[in-house]
Amino acid sequence: MSRTNISDDLMYRLLVSSVKDYAIYMLDEEGTVLNWNAGAAHIKGYSVDDIVGKNYSCFFSDDDRRRGVPWDNLEMARRLGHFADEGWRYRKDGTAFWASVVIDPVYDPQGSLLGFAKVTRDLSEQQAATRRFEHQARHDALTGVANRRGIHEKLEEQLPQVAYGSRIAVHYLDLDRFKAVNDNLGHEMGDEVLRSATRRFQAVLGQNGIVGRLGGDEFVALQFGSPTLDAIQATARSLVEAMNEPVPVAGKLARVGVSVGTAIAPSNGYDTESILRCADLALYQAKRDGRGCARQYSDEMDSLARARTALELEVREAVDQRRFSLDYQPIVKAADGEVAGYEALLRWRASSGQIVPPSVFIPVVEDLGLISSLGEWVLRSACSEAMRWSHNIYVSVNVSAAQLRDAELIGVVDRILADTGLSPERLELEITESTVLDSVETAEGILRNLRNRGIGVALDDFGTGFSSLSLVKKLPLTRIKIDKSFVDQISDDSQSTAVIDAVLALCDGYGLSTTAEGVENSNQRYILTAKGCDSLQGYLFGRPGPADHEHIDHAVTP
Ligand code: C2E
Ligand code: MG
Ligand code: MG
Repeated sequence: MSRTNISDDLMYRLLVSSVKDYAIYMLDEEGTVLNWNAGAAHIKGYSVDDIVGKNYSCFFSDDDRRRGVPWDNLEMARRLGHFADEGWRYRKDGTAFWASVVIDPVYDPQGSLLGFAKVTRDLSEQQAATRRFEHQARHDALTGVANRRGIHEKLEEQLPQVAYGSRIAVHYLDLDRFKAVNDNLGHEMGDEVLRSATRRFQAVLGQNGIVGRLGGDEFVALQFGSPTLDAIQATARSLVEAMNEPVPVAGKLARVGVSVGTAIAPSNGYDTESILRCADLALYQAKRDGRGCARQYSDEMDSLARARTALELEVREAVDQRRFSLDYQPIVKAADGEVAGYEALLRWRASSGQIVPPSVFIPVVEDLGLISSLGEWVLRSACSEAMRWSHNIYVSVNVSAAQLRDAELIGVVDRILADTGLSPERLELEITESTVLDSVETAEGILRNLRNRGIGVALDDFGTGFSSLSLVKKLPLTRIKIDKSFVDQISDDSQSTAVIDAVLALCDGYGLSTTAEGVENSNQRYILTAKGCDSLQGYLFGRPGPADHEHIDHAVTP
């Protein structure tokens, strides 16, 4: 049928009757249905024969009908010239749907009311989508628990209760060694670990609170029901214990732990922001205290945090401007006291004039993510300094975990050796157990590359960690540095050297050189030498000092 053959009237009728997404129909003055389009049949489930001639009040609930709502709506449309509303309407089968309704009065050309034009739209799907969206906005897709926003809102909603004497605990949780799981087992396994952790935390909280995931490996547990201080501590402990058992994923065991920081409302704060900040500070302390433990917020943490922020600012500036220096401490051959090498030790004088020990500022540099850049400066300075020494003396440089996680290090070392002209055999890198533990495989690969170039690798502070033995088997080491704490114990009874004996035997077995650290007296020197330790380092032979040639050239034997 061509367009010209149909009348305007028919065209309108066809248009209206074929619309599917809107129920469009007319009512007379009393609300009797006069006609019915395809959309109306689709949305409300009545056919034309079912409904034409019936009153449109059948779309309303009994209660609405009793209150006269259908007729009030028509009256309003007539009086105001338009009526629009949203509300529950009912289909033929009795099911309800959320409807958007528009009613317009229709007049004949003389101005008398003919009835009403009514348009209804089913908003259920839209509403479901909105609800879905609302849910998604407050929940974590991976674990299904509340996300950061959900947790904030929940806390905001509950916090006013503390004004009436109730108590709420906020536990901040951060998984330990999660990065290693992600790196070594892959992201899918990582996701599985996050889901397992969520379930374990939920089991601890039970009906007494909720668990949320803030992102990454960070979680929060809110403990409601005005728990006692004991109950709060017990929950924090249980959260830690929940991760003691390794998580089985795809036939492997992922060993992650969790650190917990707890803050309590109202004693630590009344509003969401301050209570979360306290929990965060407590978590930071738990991490500092060796992870896998729970800490409760105290005001002291706040002042420490402020001092730390100030320190961070100053350290950042110092790194930017390379305001550091290196001291060198001799390492001597046990046999004849000749200098075999020097260890480079980083030094920093804060703006107050105070010398800040590396054990204090290096962790800050690491946390700021600046250690690779500072470490590169240390390497370059130490290597160029070593070029001024005799050719048989090596330089030993400490490296941090972040440097050993980054294959960049190999390129950096190559460039420095090329630029300074130092032969690789004269460079030794010192790593510690904690340096490599986060990602042993990555570290192993990087160290092997360095070893292949002839660079030495020493395991520093040996015996202070837990995994020292397994690391000796796994890593391509050339030397072990026996920690000062064992040297300190040396006395005349044989018991005191049991550990040193074992380490020396181990090194013998693996063909590794040994250096004893922190040798301060001749008795220690005598015993260590007699037992076959290769080299010695300590105040007895020389304190760390600046690289003026005076110091280097004359710092030999006592
Ligand atoms: P470390 O590598 O085990 O260095 C030996 C530490 O023992 C040095 O402390 C040294 O001054 C001290 N020491 C040496 N002989 C004796 C002794 O006879 N008696 C006593 N009481 N102490 C002795 P320092 O310089 O405070 O360094 C502490 C740690 O800081 C180092 O331990 C090392 O782990 C780290 N560090 C130093 N420089 C760097 C660096 O450039 N990069 C990195 N990543 N870490 C560094
Ligand atoms: Mg060292
Ligand atoms: Mg050491």
